[in-house]
Amino acid sequence: MVERSKQTVRDLRRGNRSVLLRHLYFEGRLSRHELGRDTGLSGGTISNVVGELIADGLVEEAGSVDSDGGRPRVLLQVAADRGYLVGVDVGETQVRVALFDLALTELAASDHPLSDHGHDVDHVVQLILEGLAEVLDGTGTDRDRVLGVGIGVPGIVEQGDPAADPEDPGGVGAVVHGQTIDWDAVPLGRLLRAGTDLPLHIDNGAKTLGQAEMWFGAGRGAGNAVVALFGSGVGACVIANGTPYRGATSSAGEWGHTKVHVGGRLCRCGSRGCLEAYVGAEALVERWGRAGEASSSSEKAGLAALLAAAEADDPDADALLCETAEYLGASIADLINLFNPERIVIGGWAGLLLGPRLLPAIRDSARAYALRFPCEQTSIELGRLGPDAVTVGAATLPLARFLDSGGDVPEPGRREARALR
Ligand SMILES: [Zn+2]
Repeated sequence: MVERSKQTVRDLRRGNRSVLLRHLYFEGRLSRHELGRDTGLSGGTISNVVGELIADGLVEEAGSVDSDGGRPRVLLQVAADRGYLVGVDVGETQVRVALFDLALTELAASDHPLSDHGHDVDHVVQLILEGLAEVLDGTGTDRDRVLGVGIGVPGIVEQGDPAADPEDPGGVGAVVHGQTIDWDAVPLGRLLRAGTDLPLHIDNGAKTLGQAEMWFGAGRGAGNAVVALFGSGVGACVIANGTPYRGATSSAGEWGHTKVHVGGRLCRCGSRGCLEAYVGAEALVERWGRAGEASSSSEKAGLAALLAAAEADDPDADALLCETAEYLGASIADLINLFNPERIVIGGWAGLLLGPRLLPAIRDSARAYALRFPCEQTSIELGRLGPDAVTVGAATLPLARFLDSGGDVPEPGRREARALR
């Protein structure tokens, strides 16, 4: 019974720390008075918990504002340099590793192209570990102050069993099923653990992009949304009532492999007629190459050449992009009919490259193919976080854990998070 009440007090304290830390993190500089007003916590609780968070170095004072007739109110903010986060994007064409402070300001980044070896597992693991060493050593960052490494991958991520290691939920046990890159049940967490003891968090790249856009970008404020990742491949993160919808084993949102043409073009997944086989950047560059021009030496260069040709009124390029907009719009109509989102956000490097030209046609196509009522409730927008949003999103994985835990930080010399006193 004593154990149980101790547990409850600890949970309550952790919960209050988490509420205040989260609110300060997302709403910016606030006074104690404003924190009380916004969270409903009592003045005494605010005073105690804020005092603790300041003593732990997690929250700092950030100037003051005059209050009506009273003493100036001190503003508080999360201390951006209290810890560091690493985001990794295992993309279709490169591995990007970036180091961030707690405010998600990028401090260093390392990019390694994948062109020579494709997605050979050992090579990708080696590039992630090399990138980690580059950004940490290059900035002289103490590994003990890194809260965790988030990794976005192009595949379905089966999370590990959190009960097996409560301090490392899912990270080391994570297994990746990347059918389009020939990753068959790759134990990525275990392979990385052999080279680093930092806490690991692994998720699908479209889901990390989704979390980034929902927290800081075009999805902010929406409870029901779909964030679409349009790059070499195509994926989506479905947000239902504020939470990513994962399905039974985390594979939900494989929008790129929904069928737009029964018996149609061969897809990288082995099936036929998938959306990705028509509008993924790899497919587009290949289709444009067949039309007789442009090199496919690099997908980004190939897609830029296709866009440039369309801008110069090349009829073949224009026709291909018009068809792309129609396919995308029709597939977005499917998302609208299935999920009734209030917002659809198109991100990913190809989406951001082609979006400014294609968005009006995509909207027209979605309107033509979707049911009228749900379509009228949905806006279709471009992502706001730029082409590296998957890396930012990956860094939000350890950040989310940090905020949920009420600011648990690893103690020097120990990987395990510090238990609350
Ligand atoms: Zn497919």
